[in-house]
Amino acid sequence: MRALTRDDIVAGLRALGLQPGDKVLVHSSVAALGRVEGGPDAVIDALLAAVGPAGLVMVPTFATARPFDRRTASTPLGAIPDAFRRRPGAVRSKHPTHSVAAIGAGAAELIRDHEKVPTAYAEGTPYYRLAEVGGKILLLGVDQDRNTTLHAAEAIAGSPYLTHVTATYVDDDGREVTIPVAAMAGPHRNFIGLDRLFRERGVVRVGRIGSAVCRLMDARRMLDVAIEALRADPAAVLCDNPACADCVLQRGAIKAARLREEAFTLAAVAGDISDNLAEIEFALRGEGIAALELTPDEHDKFGAALADAGITVAAIRSAGGADGAARARRLGVPLIVPAGTREEIEAAASLRATGCTVYVENVGLPSAHYAELLAEVTGAPPLALNPGRFAAAREKPFLQVFYRGPLRKRLAHFYVDDATWDGAPALPGRGNGEVKEILSMLRCRSYSGIVTLRSHVRGVPAFREAAAAFWGLLDTM
Ligand SMILES: [Zn+2]
Repeated sequence: MRALTRDDIVAGLRALGLQPGDKVLVHSSVAALGRVEGGPDAVIDALLAAVGPAGLVMVPTFATARPFDRRTASTPLGAIPDAFRRRPGAVRSKHPTHSVAAIGAGAAELIRDHEKVPTAYAEGTPYYRLAEVGGKILLLGVDQDRNTTLHAAEAIAGSPYLTHVTATYVDDDGREVTIPVAAMAGPHRNFIGLDRLFRERGVVRVGRIGSAVCRLMDARRMLDVAIEALRADPAAVLCDNPACADCVLQRGAIKAARLREEAFTLAAVAGDISDNLAEIEFALRGEGIAALELTPDEHDKFGAALADAGITVAAIRSAGGADGAARARRLGVPLIVPAGTREEIEAAASLRATGCTVYVENVGLPSAHYAELLAEVTGAPPLALNPGRFAAAREKPFLQVFYRGPLRKRLAHFYVDDATWDGAPALPGRGNGEVKEILSMLRCRSYSGIVTLRSHVRGVPAFREAAAAFWGLLDTM
């Protein structure tokens, strides 16, 4: 293929819909165009010629060097932006993380005070101002992953996974200035996945210049569609690859935000997940969970590190109970004792005399028999209801136990645990435990206790699977 000339590129930009007077933000790859006579400067000349003297061209000029100095910092975003920022007439914003350079009508006004607003790309920034004045976004041989303005959509939609950072720039008098930058995310997002939506909504025009596939969008319309998608689904720009730690944790932040709307606290059982705290912590963060049930041994092992990880102890679980009572009392959390016989319930009841809060978890008995035992044993503890164990005893935990039965009044803790009538463990909502019905009723009563997710196969993948089933139940209530 012959080398592209400046005029070829102007003709290509015209065909794509770029007009004289347009203000355009350009994300680019000069290599994608193929051979260009005159290199990056010819592409810049073509862009400036296409919009004419009444128009404006803006490019991103972020730098990796810290602190950021707009007078000297080169940009790794490609040959076009790096040549652009050095052009006579180019003005560059001071923002330490998301600087831009612009040439054309109103350039100085557009980039002004970029470093003085809360975010790098939303209201008051050059990216957002461009959208406000009817500007366009051109992706020249690059995809939506390069489309910085999409970050503005996340900031405006209030995506729960956004965080704050601080960054430093060098002012024009040489002074270093450190500023907070709100609404940072990632690094990974699935902005590529939005392209299909943009095509369906008629927001993007796709064409080709040389070998470069190019996309031209009206910035305001594109932002509106992206904001709408994020409001409908806060995970709209996250990938669903379970091996992508960024998106697993960002989805976890969305789930945590959702749990803050609930009266109950969601917890997990350490031993269901791993004996390694880092693995447990990652699994919990991915599900938005910040509370954990531990055995006394596990508490010895990682109790001290839990607080640093932002995880609270929801309960101490102990088979016999005795070894956990003092610890549970000291921590001010309940001691949960799985109890399936009169003797075990009596032993658990006797621990209450130590001043410790004790609950018994129903294991292995039908509900009527369990209710009888709790009524007979003096000082019997409240119930940590495990519907899976009643289902495994061929019962309907919601209709027989929760809705009508005497056990409901004793309920103090709820295990999201399911099983089928033939006794096989099941994912929440996939057995006969009526988990969804009980959970829904608890929510109707603003139950403010602990709801603990169980998984039957030890390990992170099985825990994630159980959690996904739980979130599926919550999503359909
Ligand atoms: Zn991802």
